[in-house]
Amino acid sequence: MIQTDIIIIGAGPVGLFTVFEAGLLKLRCHLIDSLPQPGGQCSEIYPKKPIYDIPGFPSVLAGELIDNLMEQAAPFKPGFTLGEAALKIEKTEDDQFIVTTVKGTEHKAPIVMIAGGLGVFEPRKPPIETIESYEDKGVEYIIKDPEFYRGKRVVIAGGGDSALDWSIFLAEKKIATEVALVHRSASFRGHLDSVQKVIDMAGNGDIKLITEAEVTGIDGNGKVESVVINHQKDGELIKETDHFIPLFGLKPSLGPIADWGLEIEKNAIKVNTLDYSTNIPGIYAIGDVNTYENKLKLILCGFHEGTLAVQSAFARIYPDKKNILKYTTVNGVQGF
Ligand SMILES: Cc1cc2nc3c(=O)[nH]c(=O)nc-3n(C[C@H](O)[C@H](O)[C@H](O)COP(=O)(O)OP(=O)(O)OC[C@H]3O[C@@H](n4cnc5c(N)ncnc54)[C@H](O)[C@@H]3O)c2cc1C
Repeated sequence: MIQTDIIIIGAGPVGLFTVFEAGLLKLRCHLIDSLPQPGGQCSEIYPKKPIYDIPGFPSVLAGELIDNLMEQAAPFKPGFTLGEAALKIEKTEDDQFIVTTVKGTEHKAPIVMIAGGLGVFEPRKPPIETIESYEDKGVEYIIKDPEFYRGKRVVIAGGGDSALDWSIFLAEKKIATEVALVHRSASFRGHLDSVQKVIDMAGNGDIKLITEAEVTGIDGNGKVESVVINHQKDGELIKETDHFIPLFGLKPSLGPIADWGLEIEKNAIKVNTLDYSTNIPGIYAIGDVNTYENKLKLILCGFHEGTLAVQSAFARIYPDKKNILKYTTVNGVQGF
């Protein structure tokens, strides 16, 4: 059981900055995220895009902003449970909450801040009937650690940057022994340089490129041993492989949070703008996941919401202590 002061569900920019603001009040945080890395939409959707409306940064790449937020939070030693969606929440007799993830990891705290953004990013799966029975048995939708594929044969499917970049990486670094990239069209959606590189590597025999084709079946005894590839012109072919990795992108959905008894409106959690508390005392919702009159889904607004929410959390945890606002210029940052 991981015990902390504040469980933050969602390690996007808003969750990360909240660690800093909580730390200034000497409150410890532990973040849970279903994605394998922190950063939410900034890391997952647009890490290389510049953002122009972060105060004090005329321009900052989304990925750089996340690196900076991680650095800013570091003195307060946040804990992370990554790659695990928060599945359920229970109230305990001692007025705390236990948040359990899909993998059964338990976290306990008097305060829960939901910074879940657009929700859990669920992989878009190809319509193969048996695919779910092969999940974690050779079928993966996200590459968490490329080393996992060392010495293995992989079939990647998809036409976006993720499919192109991972095919290049696994082949170029000679991690996988064989990389096949299957895409249903002859043209790709990814960056032109990546497309050209894949074509060049296919020419050298480093990547087996199979376009105008789709993976339509999986075979194996308890784990993936081969896939069926349906080629628009040449018909069906069976390809032996150890892994099948469809990289068709991720779609957001509020996910399990929708069933926690919180007031939901338009797929977002209703909050009181006094302190961004929800209808359940002790649970707050900040950032893109909440809704109120005049809500703007901006990082800047999420930072403000997290800042006010931790002040309220402090008063809830220490009802007898007075919290006096201290400027960081005066007090500095006293880490844990
Ligand atoms: C292309 C693009 C450009 C943008 N440009 C700008 C811009 O210029 N300026 C600006 O201010 N904003 C911009 N935004 C919006 C900005 O990215 C969001 O406002 C911001 O990411 C919200 O941060 P967040 O931390 O609330 O949520 P998110 O970044 O969505 O992070 C939420 C995290 O919670 C996790 N999560 C959700 N549910 C669970 C669960 N049950 N268990 C575990 N983890 C969970 C998710 O995996 C995710 O990592 C842009 C968005 C996009 C897509």
